[in-house]
Amino acid sequence: MSIKRVRLVRKADSYYCQFAIQTDVIPESKLGNGEVGLDVGIEYFYSDSNGHHEENPRFLRKAEKAIKHAQRQIYKKEKGKNQRRKARVRYAKKHLRVSRQRNEHAKRLARNVCSLNRLVVYEDLNVKGMVKNHCLAKSINDVAWSLFRRWLEYFAVKFNTEVVAINPRMTSQKCSDCGSIVKKSLSTRTHQCSCGCELQRDLNAAINILNLGRQARVGHTQSHATGLVTSTLLGATLVEQVTRVKVESPDFPIK
Ligand SMILES: [Zn+2]
Repeated sequence: MSIKRVRLVRKADSYYCQFAIQTDVIPESKLGNGEVGLDVGIEYFYSDSNGHHEENPRFLRKAEKAIKHAQRQIYKKEKGKNQRRKARVRYAKKHLRVSRQRNEHAKRLARNVCSLNRLVVYEDLNVKGMVKNHCLAKSINDVAWSLFRRWLEYFAVKFNTEVVAINPRMTSQKCSDCGSIVKKSLSTRTHQCSCGCELQRDLNAAINILNLGRQARVGHTQSHATGLVTSTLLGATLVEQVTRVKVESPDFPIK
C-alpha cells in the first residue's frame, strides 16, 4: 500500500487530512444470487421488484426543518457582524451532518443490495433535470439517490454484481404482465390492467425495470445491438472511479 496524495480539507466543523492510497479491490463473498429491479419514487426511497418498499430515511425530513430554520437565522442577523458569521457556520454544520448521514444510509443500502443480488437494474434518471424543482424534500431525495447509485457502482465491483441502468420511459405505465399501456396519473397508486394484473404502482414499475435490464443484458452479450443499455457500469473506468471513492471516503479530523 502506498500513499499517492495527502490533502488538507477544511469543512464546517474542522480541518481534515485526506490520504489517497493505492490499493487492490478485494472481492467480497455474496449473501445471495438474486436479480432485482429498483424503482425510485417520492413516497419510498425505492421499491424493488420483489415487493419490498424501502422507506425514506427520517433524518432527511427532520434535517429539512432544521436547515430551513438555520438558514432563516442567517438573514435575521446584520450583515458583516460576528453574529451572522456564527449563524452561517451553524447552517453549514447542519448541512454537513445531513450529508454524512445521507452518505452512510446510501452506503449501507447499496452494500446490502449488491451483496444479495447478481443483477441489479435501475433507472437512468436525469438527476440534473430533476433537482430543478421547488420541492425541497424531493430535491434532497434526488441527491440521496444519486449518491446511492454511486455506492451501487462501487459495491458492484466489490461483490462482482452486474448493475445495469435502463431508460425509465413508460416503466410506470406499462403492464408488467401483458405489456399493454395503462395510463395513470401520479396519484394513482395501483396498476390495474384489463388482463387481470393488479399490482402496487411502484412494484409494477420495478418489475418492468428488471425485465428491461434482463433484455438489455441478453441483447448486449449476443449482438451488442441494443438501444436499452444507457450505461453498463462495469469496466476499467469504473474501477478507477471506485478506487477514488474508496480512498477519499475516510476523513481524519485534526483537533
Ligand atoms: Zn396487463
